[in-house]
Amino acid sequence: MKTGFYTNPIYLEHDTGLHPENADRLRAIQAKLESEGLLEKLKLESGRPATTGEIAMLHTEKLISAVEAASASGAAQLHTPDCIISAQTYKAALFAVGSVLDAALEVAERRLDNAFCAVRPPGHHAEYDTAMGFCFFNNIALAAEYLSRELGFKRVLVFDFDVHHGNGTQHFFEQRDDIYFVSLHQDPRSCYPGTGFADERGSGAGAGYTLNVPVSAGMEDAEYLQIFYAQVLPKLEEYKPDFILVSAGFDAHRADPLAALNLTERTFNELIRVLKKLAASTAGGRIMSLLEGGYDLKALSTSVYEHLLVLESED
Ligand SMILES: [Zn+2]
Repeated sequence: MKTGFYTNPIYLEHDTGLHPENADRLRAIQAKLESEGLLEKLKLESGRPATTGEIAMLHTEKLISAVEAASASGAAQLHTPDCIISAQTYKAALFAVGSVLDAALEVAERRLDNAFCAVRPPGHHAEYDTAMGFCFFNNIALAAEYLSRELGFKRVLVFDFDVHHGNGTQHFFEQRDDIYFVSLHQDPRSCYPGTGFADERGSGAGAGYTLNVPVSAGMEDAEYLQIFYAQVLPKLEEYKPDFILVSAGFDAHRADPLAALNLTERTFNELIRVLKKLAASTAGGRIMSLLEGGYDLKALSTSVYEHLLVLESED
């Protein structure tokens, strides 16, 4: 398969110091893909910065200006203490969005079979006008909006398997029926950000187009996959997505320090295998993933490797 791998040195300059969401995450991924000989099989793409107009498809001008000003002024954080900011954060955040939009276009028009965007800062917690949870602009929500608004896709699936609920993504789309947001995550009663209960299903025109599946702390591969096959996959098959976007956070791994699920890379491999098959049957193969969380470097790099092995394989 022609699999795009989007990354850029600018992401290493979003300097968060000793915070778990730091540049070593991307270095570890790159090193693992190189040592396994997988990197050379991928189509390396450096991406591009988004325009502020593209970010304003969903976010307020006020948020865009705040990220720019905080980066320029040497501020330590924006909005919440976990959104650490540095001089290059704004530029990195623009590149993360632009690269994801570029990947979406390349996959939409079949110049790439699929793609993985190893970007940071991550995005799925970012809200309309607020940075939140290490996220400044919502990369995946902007990709979904772009596919829907600019490229004419009618049934975009956003599948989020990060251990944390993708609150920002849900809030952008929960009143709309053209984007289906599906999230599996640790029970919000014991996990950040405290949203994503099963009864959050969308409202108005969007009723039924949000699916939250909270799972218990300590859950292992077999039970998690059983829930996925029983409660989630039939709904995805019924929806028949015409494009699949994956919020690929690997912090549900048993080794991850920020949450309490006990999954292994086996689950991440199986999830993307099933999603890729679904994309082949309903979306002309159109699927792409964006990096969200994942904070144990070994678990993260192994999990991303497993994920990319599936995307790149001919099966
Ligand atoms: Zn997460």
